[in-house]
Amino acid sequence: MTDDKNNNKDIGNDPGLIQKDYITIIAGPCAIESHQQLENTAKIVKDLGLSYLRGGAYKPRTSPYSFQGLEEKGLEYLKEIGQKYGLKTVTEVTDTVNAGIVAENADVLQIGTRNMSNFALLKKVGEIAFKKKKAVILKRGWASSIKEWLQASEYLTMNGEVEVILCERGIRTFDTNTRFTLDLAAVPVIRKLSKLPIIIDPSHAMGQSDLVTPMSRAAIAAGADGLIVETHNDPASALCDGQQSLNPKEMAELLKQIKKIASVIGKKVR
Ligand code: PEP
Ligand code: MN
Repeated sequence: MTDDKNNNKDIGNDPGLIQKDYITIIAGPCAIESHQQLENTAKIVKDLGLSYLRGGAYKPRTSPYSFQGLEEKGLEYLKEIGQKYGLKTVTEVTDTVNAGIVAENADVLQIGTRNMSNFALLKKVGEIAFKKKKAVILKRGWASSIKEWLQASEYLTMNGEVEVILCERGIRTFDTNTRFTLDLAAVPVIRKLSKLPIIIDPSHAMGQSDLVTPMSRAAIAAGADGLIVETHNDPASALCDGQQSLNPKEMAELLKQIKKIASVIGKKVR
């Protein structure tokens, strides 16, 4: 057990997802598959001393034949399990129709890469996030420039102040050895152009679990404010993105390595 474990206690008074002196790590499965699966993973996240649990209830799958998520039932599990373990929750909003119910049930709203340019959705999520004081993670479209991404972020804040966190999750290039190409240059570029915090999703960028930890280290060294990492109690049985999900042991090792880098740059991990 580490000192950082105690950070969980303070989460009730958390002023926001991103805190200046901390690296925030969001962990959890790609998709909420069952009550048991989410609870098993939540226990792991809690035991690691982290404060944010991710899990998709509405899954925007490229193939219509892939698992589409448990939808409302998934949100119900996320809310209940988040509260039980004292974890803040992060889940994706895929549609203006489900934006309200997602905001009723989760602490942080995520806009996925496929929806970065869905301006009607951005406006709706911005309105709801402002009213309900929710933070929004805006993933970069996999074919979007940094300028387009920053413009998209302004749709979220058009109707009032909202905590917006940018998330680089890989862009499409000609290389096929990784699922996408993680553009870590986005970190210093965003620092130069914007005041918004930026986190990195190494899971969707790399697409393979053994490549996630090295790029997580690099992301933190480059100055990212945090990570969102797919973690599963049993990746081999995952219904979605198991090949890129870390098992409990791998997640513990990632955290150990990130803490070392964080201490070099004067930050703590939560
Ligand atoms: C996700 O985080 O579950 C997800 C679908 O990511 P992305 O939108 O980056 O593909
Ligand atoms: Mn995924």
